Amino acid sequence: MQQMREAVRAGVKDRPGVYRMISPDGEIVYVGKAKKLRTRLMSYFRAEYPADKGARILREAGEIAWDYHPSEFAALLEELRLIKRWRPRLNVMMKRDARHYAFIRISRGPAPKFQVVRSAGNDDSGTYFGPFHGAHQLEDALRELNDALGLRDCRADLKMYFADQVELPVAPPRTPGCIRHEIGRCLGPCVAATTVREYASRFDVARQFLEGADDAPVALLRAAMEASSEDLEFERAASLRDKIVRLESLQDQFARLRFAVESLSFVYRVPGWGDDDRVYVVRRGRVRAELPAPRTVEEEQALAARAAEIFAPPEKTALTVPAHEVDELLLLSSWFRKFPEEFLKAEAAERFPRALSA
Ligand code: SF4
Repeated sequence: MQQMREAVRAGVKDRPGVYRMISPDGEIVYVGKAKKLRTRLMSYFRAEYPADKGARILREAGEIAWDYHPSEFAALLEELRLIKRWRPRLNVMMKRDARHYAFIRISRGPAPKFQVVRSAGNDDSGTYFGPFHGAHQLEDALRELNDALGLRDCRADLKMYFADQVELPVAPPRTPGCIRHEIGRCLGPCVAATTVREYASRFDVARQFLEGADDAPVALLRAAMEASSEDLEFERAASLRDKIVRLESLQDQFARLRFAVESLSFVYRVPGWGDDDRVYVVRRGRVRAELPAPRTVEEEQALAARAAEIFAPPEKTALTVPAHEVDELLLLSSWFRKFPEEFLKAEAAERFPRALSA
């Protein structure tokens, strides 16, 4: 411990950087970043209680290694890359404590369904939307959406029998797969009570609702609520009002995600330590290029051309983020939420001419 403290005191400068805590047998147990590296590392040696985060990390470390980076932003990106590469034990453990976001997965097949999952998978068997906060809240809201539009919420691998299937391999079950069909909350694609086309069109309404393009589910519930009030069925009207609130909160979550993904497209110049200024070309919340800041007219033109190249190609599904890029999207949106003045300094993608043709 004393040796590590002396090494930091003697060798670390107070500038942005990334540090690695390495165990005596060479394992990288923790990676961190700091705007002022020396100050941050010295704070580890002042941890008062054994349960403090700093004390817990130091107990596992036999050596500290560090690298300097031109800015806090650059250090933050490098920290994320190293964590993804090495998956240090203590980062994973501490992050797991803090992980509280969820995703909506849309399964493929003739009767697609929504499902709340804890992480965006790398598989090709579904489309993922997210990240969102609050898995339980998401589940409640999706239940309302399924009920309002008659969509299924059963096991993904359950056999479906559509009414318009030319030839059914086996006769559909005579009784509904579950009570949801009996009480009018599911179209019943498991018992040939609906067609492929009808189910698909309801599912499409749900998707459009989530993307903010169709308000039909809320309009349906609102009409039912008003009718209930007129019939003096106040308990039912109150229950319908709660359903509307849950659906609207889901729509809000999607609107926030859309804003995060779509507004994070720009060129971001960051002054660096010792004039090592950098430029980041960010598209849909992910850094697509990191370049030295241009110092001449020619370099400025080269940057504009590179940025236009990055912004130009159209990208599919507005709210789908590849699983391996979710952490970077979260990191960037939290950085610009924390420092809104930095967001104002960024140059919007539209300023780069070929972006307009995308
Ligand atoms: S009625 Fe059939 S398709 Fe609908 S949720 Fe129940 S089991 Fe699934």
